[in-house]
Amino acid sequence: MKRIGAHVSTSGGVENAPLNAREIGAKAFALFTKNQRQWKAKPLTNENIEKFRQNCEDAGFLPEQILPHDSYLINLGHPEKEGLEKSRDAFLDEMQRCEQLGLLMLNFHPGSHLKKISIDACLKRIAESINISLDKTKGVTAVIENTAGQGTNMGFKFEHLAAIIDEVEDKKRVGVCLDTCHTFAAGYDIRTTETFEATMDQFERVVGLKYLRGMHLNDSKSDLGSHVDRHHSIGKGKLGVDPFRFIMNDNRFEEIPMVLETIDSTIWTEEIKLLYSLAG
Ligand SMILES: [Zn+2]
Ligand SMILES: [Zn+2]
Repeated sequence: MKRIGAHVSTSGGVENAPLNAREIGAKAFALFTKNQRQWKAKPLTNENIEKFRQNCEDAGFLPEQILPHDSYLINLGHPEKEGLEKSRDAFLDEMQRCEQLGLLMLNFHPGSHLKKISIDACLKRIAESINISLDKTKGVTAVIENTAGQGTNMGFKFEHLAAIIDEVEDKKRVGVCLDTCHTFAAGYDIRTTETFEATMDQFERVVGLKYLRGMHLNDSKSDLGSHVDRHHSIGKGKLGVDPFRFIMNDNRFEEIPMVLETIDSTIWTEEIKLLYSLAG
């Protein structure tokens, strides 16, 4: 079964996320476990945690179908000591929040070199950051998202993802999330059967499909290879509907959370219906 959902709001508390997901007919969801634009957050209370678990159960969501996303401020490849330490502390806190909520994955953007260190050095730092946080937690997998490659962001080439994974000690607790908009903006075409297959073949060869733990389903406002990260509603951007039809009919994407981060949350119910209608 395909598990389509969206990155839902946690307004009023993390425990509201599963309810918001059920409301739109989602079979998976993403969430922030804290305010994504602030470094510090109040710890989760026992009440938050218990209600979250209860609401997930009531709404029929298993931890495998939930893909939390970390704060945008975190840069696990930060070139400077202070920024790196702050990021590693914040990332560990996010991993621990996932542990507390009984979640199995934490999705994050790899990091940026900020033109101060080489790509290789940055990738090594990211892997080291992952190792540190995996060492201090149990049961949560670090899920690296591919990026559009905007600015000095790492992760726009499959080789970047492979290089990070290569240096991670516990390979069972590292995975990848492919974002369709980022994939396309990074220069991997997926608009035709041929290009979609070629891109997935390349992913299999360079990274390995066994590492694929989730997807972000977004159309793209920006062009192929533009390195500009601008999401659009499904079928309304440069990707069009076809890539999503390929995904919905491909059994390589069974059971993993596939989450909308499209720009108009008022049409998520319809977008989810549209995606399911493309299958079979
Ligand atoms: Zn994404
Ligand atoms: Zn994006």
